[in-house]
Amino acid sequence: SLEVSGPQGPVEVGRGLSIGGGSVAVMAGPCSVESREQLLETARGVASSGASVLRGGAFKPRSNPYSFQGLGSQGIDLLLEAREDTGLPIVTEVMSPEDVEWLAPQVDILQVGTRSMQNFPLLKALGRVDTPVLLKRGMASTVDEWLQAAEYILAGGNSRVILCERGIRSFDKSTRNTLDLSIVPLVKSLTHLPVVVDPSHATGKRHLVAPMSLAALAAGADGLIVEVHSRPEEALCDGPQSLDLPAFDGLMNRISRLMDAL
Ligand code: PEP
Ligand code: MN
Repeated sequence: SLEVSGPQGPVEVGRGLSIGGGSVAVMAGPCSVESREQLLETARGVASSGASVLRGGAFKPRSNPYSFQGLGSQGIDLLLEAREDTGLPIVTEVMSPEDVEWLAPQVDILQVGTRSMQNFPLLKALGRVDTPVLLKRGMASTVDEWLQAAEYILAGGNSRVILCERGIRSFDKSTRNTLDLSIVPLVKSLTHLPVVVDPSHATGKRHLVAPMSLAALAAGADGLIVEVHSRPEEALCDGPQSLDLPAFDGLMNRISRLMDAL
């Protein structure tokens, strides 16, 4: 069924932020936490441009086992330092059910990646905590399967679920994935869960990130999660889709003008 357990509404993230209440939340930061310098420089930059959440992966779900796997718990420590420095709440991916219990009290939002959307032990573990969960759509998952994954978390007792459309697989490799924007208003008509869009993984190309960000907000998305790197050409992961700090600042200006117009 397409129904998810109610009642739902804005998700309280804490630190004065709630997602889904009418204002737009922009989560921004590097794909991966790589070093203290990289994270702090990027975090300070996105904070001064008006981001409301800092993103950064410490446990990375890489398709290739020889690719950079993330800094793990050391990356979490750096995120905590960047939160202290900037005041921004943090979102980071959790891959293992065993990591949920210790990570949940430390971070502000736990991300479930596209490759984990149907990791049922992980979803059940997330149902047992009250930390907000950013649930990415599986790259080959239907809306029905996505909402049933959300239901695992909601039914477990955690009502703080934020959905994230990040593009799905199609026949066309000219973009990394195919951004399925029509499901933003669709899912908002089916549930009262906040929906955010990830234009970075959806397109894989930095020049497509701003137009798709604006389109997502025009379609009614409650926010965005955008990859930003202080030196994208040196990124260990997802550099080609990462905005540099001036480009992110330009995007934030365009977002505020769009929101004034809507
Ligand atoms: C990410 O956010 O860096 C990520 C791995 O995203 P996805 O799970 O959507 O590929
Ligand atoms: Mn990434």
